[in-house]
Amino acid sequence: MSWFAENYIALLYLISAVLFIFGLKRLGKVRSARGGNQLASVAMLLAIVATLLELGHIDYRWIIGGAALGAVVGAIAATRVAMTAMPEMVAIFNGFGGASSVLVALAVVWKDLIELETFSGTTGSILGGTAAVTIGISILIGAITLSGSLIAYLKLQGKLKRGQPIILPARHVLTLGLVLGAAIFCAQFIGATSAMTVTQSALLMTLVSLVLGVLLVIPIGGADMPVVVSLLNSYSGMAASATGFVLNNNLLIISGALVGASGLILTQIMCVAMNRSLLNVLVGGFGVTDSGGGSSGNDEYQNITSCGPEEAAMTLEGAESVIIVPGYGLAVAQAQHVVREMADMLQKQGAKVSYAIHPVAGRMPGHMNVLLAEADVPYEQLVEMDQINPEFRTADVAIILGANDVVNPAASNDKTSPIYGMPILNAHEARSVFVVKRSLGAGYAGIKNTLFEGDNTTMIFGDAKQVIQGIVNELKES
Ligand code: NDP
Repeated sequence: MSWFAENYIALLYLISAVLFIFGLKRLGKVRSARGGNQLASVAMLLAIVATLLELGHIDYRWIIGGAALGAVVGAIAATRVAMTAMPEMVAIFNGFGGASSVLVALAVVWKDLIELETFSGTTGSILGGTAAVTIGISILIGAITLSGSLIAYLKLQGKLKRGQPIILPARHVLTLGLVLGAAIFCAQFIGATSAMTVTQSALLMTLVSLVLGVLLVIPIGGADMPVVVSLLNSYSGMAASATGFVLNNNLLIISGALVGASGLILTQIMCVAMNRSLLNVLVGGFGVTDSGGGSSGNDEYQNITSCGPEEAAMTLEGAESVIIVPGYGLAVAQAQHVVREMADMLQKQGAKVSYAIHPVAGRMPGHMNVLLAEADVPYEQLVEMDQINPEFRTADVAIILGANDVVNPAASNDKTSPIYGMPILNAHEARSVFVVKRSLGAGYAGIKNTLFEGDNTTMIFGDAKQVIQGIVNELKES
């Protein structure tokens, strides 16, 4: 390749890396996120072009076929997926990332073996020390990401004992044994002196890592699942970065590291939000109480008060400060537009209206921000948990829309609760609390919510969209 072509390609990679960094930065705010996504798409296109140019004369039929297939699957998945199913999609995409790292690493192994015709009788590592280490890491992390993500996907889909941890006997010993096994096969792979040992150890390493991925995720249940998805996202980035070393591709190293690092940061933020330590997450098997993650005791509710939209509208009319607490049910009901309409009406009447945003409300990080942005709710009205919590004490009304776990006082006052320690929105401290949901059914963590029995709490049973529409109609008539 000429000097000019080489530098031209390096420049394309550099521009692509810079665009990835700026794209990621813009994803940090809802307002600029769309632009950030577009920047990252351009970066990816440049990366593909640069890689194809670098490869030179190759058979493009497979490339075009793969790109067309991937684009069709991606476009269909992206347009059809419901907002509520986004975490599953993220989980499965993480898994694909892990799978591609494993496949690329194994392909490199066999390509090298085919090229090394004189491997029999060779002394020393036949793949070369550094190459073998990076391939080994790529396979290990990639396979753990693949199987772990598939389990996370099945759990989020509700196809695998949704919300309930699956606890195997002696799981810690099993996990330790598998980690040890993976390390031994990896060491064997790195030092392999025959093609047979290379192939055997690579396949065994893949198999053990796949089982390890399953074992790390199955004991995790309910409220801890978002942390797992975020952590697996980070793993997929690390696997891609390791693959970058395997392929000697700087851009893959950089972009993989960006995903790995940002995933870890998000994991850390979520750990704080759910009161888990990062170490606790990294060793796996968290989110399980001594009682095995059961419910927080008596699931029968007593002294429940309920009303209809009319009574709620009357109280809201006289309120000077109203805090809206959105949750997963708001997304299910797709009630964001009518909520905005209600909030606008209350503001016109002179009330101060804020939305309390819990970091793990809904089913993915930032779920409520995205949902409310769809309805053009002004960003200033979205208030993070730490800022809004002191305001509940002075609020006239807290209206909880399809939220459950994130307002469950058991998280702060019941040590036996599986979600004990998770910071919550202190909605129970408001003067009047309305809870809009269809029944007394549990939320994601599958536990009773003592807020519903509070003296100041009134349930409004029904679909969030219909109930809020009812309140809006009442407010219009008054
Ligand atoms: P929850 O899952 O705790 O509760 C949602 C409530 O919405 C349910 O109790 C349900 O009650 C109600 N609901 C469902 N459909 C409707 C509807 N159409 N109209 C009105 N209400 C409805 O939600 P939260 O947002 O409070 O908490 C999120 C939970 O999800 C946490 O435990 C979190 O850890 C977990 N999680 C979070 C993720 C994230 O990244 N944000 C990812 C994965 C899990 P009913 O059936 O009676 O209507």
